[in-house]
Amino acid sequence: MKKFAALLLSLLLVATFAVPSLAACRERTFGGYQHVIIVGVDGAGTYFEKDYMTNFHRIFADGAVRYGVRTETKTDSGPNWASILSGVSYFKTGAENGVVGGEEDRKFPWFPSIFSDVRKAMPDATLASFCNWSAINIGVVEDGIGVNKQNIPNDDRLTEAVTDYLDAGNRPTLFFIHLGEVDDVGHAYGSSSDEYAAAMQRTDVRIGKIYDALERAGMLEDGLFLVTADHGHKATGGHGRFSKIESLSTIAVKGKTVKKGGTLDCDTKLRDVAAISLYALGVLCKPVHFSAKVPANCFNDVLGQVRPVHRDIIDLLCGAFMWIYTNLGAPLDKYFP
Ligand SMILES: [Zn+2]
Repeated sequence: MKKFAALLLSLLLVATFAVPSLAACRERTFGGYQHVIIVGVDGAGTYFEKDYMTNFHRIFADGAVRYGVRTETKTDSGPNWASILSGVSYFKTGAENGVVGGEEDRKFPWFPSIFSDVRKAMPDATLASFCNWSAINIGVVEDGIGVNKQNIPNDDRLTEAVTDYLDAGNRPTLFFIHLGEVDDVGHAYGSSSDEYAAAMQRTDVRIGKIYDALERAGMLEDGLFLVTADHGHKATGGHGRFSKIESLSTIAVKGKTVKKGGTLDCDTKLRDVAAISLYALGVLCKPVHFSAKVPANCFNDVLGQVRPVHRDIIDLLCGAFMWIYTNLGAPLDKYFP
């Protein structure tokens, strides 16, 4: 029995520490893209799934999608946008809303954003971050690395700024676009409301406009287009806890080497957006910083990477708790309102 336990422990250790990435960095996808465009829809959770999201479904009909991607353990905006753009867990960044949106500059400089990573690898790259929620440009995207940051607290004007920027001939290597109306409406009316559905539909139109502008700009041939959200919203509005509706989100990817009709693997987390982006641009192969990975079923030629969970045990334990919680569902809701 002792021998068996020892064997099991050894196997576990090997699995955790020594399993090499299944992605060998020699694939067409690694460095195969000139542009990565990330559209982040605040508070949209898994609502991209709805039939009324016609532009979303038009774009990602031949892309790879997962509805049900894990957020960070705290389902607020700051923690999740910070992890999406840096590839590490909330336990590493400590990026509470107040931290991200605080007066001072970036508070977690030891975990660079993917903008920093791209800048280091490509000194001449054009980088842009247009945000409805200015906190992302204040607290997550570093100053002084030449990112064209625009803070526009209105999604229609922001979408227009994006399309104008592209139509004017700008061709960013990394472009992050944050849309905020859905979250505002979610807080005011809840995700079961007609108002929320209407905000999602207006957002769908904006996603379509951005995508079409990228097409006009000729950026889609060598571009990876990705749509995601930081968290969902309770039926009655609000987020921050562990219920399914708050803690499950979406990643949708489209590009020349993306698996058509693929479903990203069930261990996909929001922070994997960082790994996917840096892999596609050929900046970092594996693993991105601490605990992000390129999911399986994302690219045709990448089997998927192993998440280096041993580097973030607290995240691993809390992630396990969240998994149990969201799968047990309702019985626990009264304890975590
Ligand atoms: Zn949010």
